[in-house]
Amino acid sequence: MTIDPHQEKRGFEAEVKQLLDMVVHSLYSNKEIFLRELISNASDAIDKLRFEALSDPALYESDSNLAIRIRFDKEAQTVTVSDNGIGMSREEVISHLGTIAKSGTREFLSHLTGDQKKDSHLIGQFGVGFYSVFMVADKVTVLTRRAGLGAVHGVRWESTGNGEYTVENVEKPSRGTDIILHLKKDAEEFLDNWRLRSIITKYSDHLNLPILMPKLTEDEKVTEEWETVNRATALWALPKNEVKAEQYNEFYKHISHDFEDPLAWTHHKIEGGNIDYICLLYLPAHAPFDLFHREAHHGLKLYVQRVFIMDQVEQFLPNYLRFIRGVIDTTALPLNISREILQDHPSIAKLRSALVRHTLDLLEKLAKDDPEKYAKFWKEFGNVLKEGPAEDFANRMRIAKLLRFASTHHDTDLQSVSFTDYIQRMKPNQKKIYYVTAENFNAAKSSPHLEIFRKNNIEVLLLSDRIDEWVVSHLPEFEGKPLQSVAKGELQLDEITNEDVATKQAEEQKEKEQSQVFDALLKKIKAILDHQVKEVRLSHRLTSSPVCLVRDQDALGSQMERLLKAVGQTVTESKPILELNPEHTIIQKMREGLNEERLKEWTQLLYEQALLAEGSALPDPAAFVQRMNKLWMEMMR
Ligand code: ADP
Repeated sequence: MTIDPHQEKRGFEAEVKQLLDMVVHSLYSNKEIFLRELISNASDAIDKLRFEALSDPALYESDSNLAIRIRFDKEAQTVTVSDNGIGMSREEVISHLGTIAKSGTREFLSHLTGDQKKDSHLIGQFGVGFYSVFMVADKVTVLTRRAGLGAVHGVRWESTGNGEYTVENVEKPSRGTDIILHLKKDAEEFLDNWRLRSIITKYSDHLNLPILMPKLTEDEKVTEEWETVNRATALWALPKNEVKAEQYNEFYKHISHDFEDPLAWTHHKIEGGNIDYICLLYLPAHAPFDLFHREAHHGLKLYVQRVFIMDQVEQFLPNYLRFIRGVIDTTALPLNISREILQDHPSIAKLRSALVRHTLDLLEKLAKDDPEKYAKFWKEFGNVLKEGPAEDFANRMRIAKLLRFASTHHDTDLQSVSFTDYIQRMKPNQKKIYYVTAENFNAAKSSPHLEIFRKNNIEVLLLSDRIDEWVVSHLPEFEGKPLQSVAKGELQLDEITNEDVATKQAEEQKEKEQSQVFDALLKKIKAILDHQVKEVRLSHRLTSSPVCLVRDQDALGSQMERLLKAVGQTVTESKPILELNPEHTIIQKMREGLNEERLKEWTQLLYEQALLAEGSALPDPAAFVQRMNKLWMEMMR
């Protein structure tokens, strides 16, 4: 049978072109990683074949010695990486090697600056995979055939990396993929037996798959015989004391396609309990670009007795731990398990709770032994872990201990204070953990609600991430101390101030008098703001601001209200309470008497500034500006 080559020339997708450009210009300082990327792809392809062959053994085509073969040819100036894995059909070649299927690609590309150092760091995080070959090659030929399709279904793909590639049909008797790199002049260093072997052992010693190179004669001539270069044992199956830190690091890079070392890992072999498994879990040093994408890939690699079953298995970890990478290998699942069956398999729940426990152990240990690394982790993934108290009720308190917040105890927006730190600094009378929520750190820091707390030197947690009100709504208390918003409910002053009985009595007396003196004003203001506020009362919170808005103890916070509105939920708005500072000159002036029109204007202005201070939008901003300017003009007269 003759083959219709059906050759065509195609252009890369725009994103690929951009990425290729960046790869060549920003990553050249670490060229050797091209080999790691190709080996990773080859090993993934072999894993896929092994898995598909479980239900269709014919795919082995009488060649079940799965291996990766690497050879070089000094004369032709080529390095070739071959695998007898699953291979690709013509359609697959076009879609896998001509486009980027990763979520968040466009967003990633928009982060690139043109500054090579910064960009190379970003590209490392993104992972370039196959395209890294263009760092070392000026032409790349891919010969591939999908397992089971027959020799005439081979495909040849070729590109110089300059925006276009060709594809044509060819005959390829063996299944799998050969990647032939025509090396650039400045990449000739890779035409060297020892150089290639040392890169292979550095990056891929631990693959559970042999990597072969031709045996050399004594005078370094290439022979027809192949020999295994790596150790080819599954890293996770080795006892911990036989694995070095570098090997753990390299294995992480292999499974995660990350360029940087992980922050930490935890490795367990559990046998003879109620469920047998081995797990190796890694904490990455950087958040991937798609951490907050709904369709993003998360999860662990699943093996059953060393046989790769599937990638990105999300069932083993809850969402709030989706940043964890790693491997789970178990005898508790059948080899032929499918994604659909996996969902409901009775072992999943057991494995999941074990893996959550290992992960929380790892985080606790890191927080205790290496706070600096923990701070790094928090910066990258804190906002994900904050989903924990709502998602995982059973582990709520363990997760709460791991949370970190900004606080009035520090000047910076760094989130470094734990509930435990906070409790240690609580005042003798203090019974609650106080927090304020706001749109951003500065708004939280200068919230008028903090005035009385600052005056009495009481720490308040400053919560300004979008998810924070959601977090505290799922954490009513920590170690017996209720969490209390400083902008909600009535303040228990005696918890905050540390006064003796006499002063307290004097204060109470003063309050009584004030409430009589201000009674008429409070009523008038309430009448003016009848539609906007639920109540008008005197405040104990303020020392320098004239007014603030307060919510009922069980009402939604203003931040949560905005959040729900933003996602299109109908929010039953609870009217806020307006609190006045009786010591403030403006309030005293108002009490002493203003004509009706003025009182109205001033009241509106006070209400509007209270809205602004809590970060809420004004219902009629232009009217506010007019009122303010009018006041200003009066002052100038
Ligand atoms: P990634 O590996 O991160 O998905 P790559 O750019 O490295 O990205 O590869 C793109 C896709 O090309 C892979 O997901 C795989 O489907 C396919 N591919 C690459 N190399 C091989 C190979 N040796 N055998 C089979 N398919 C491959």
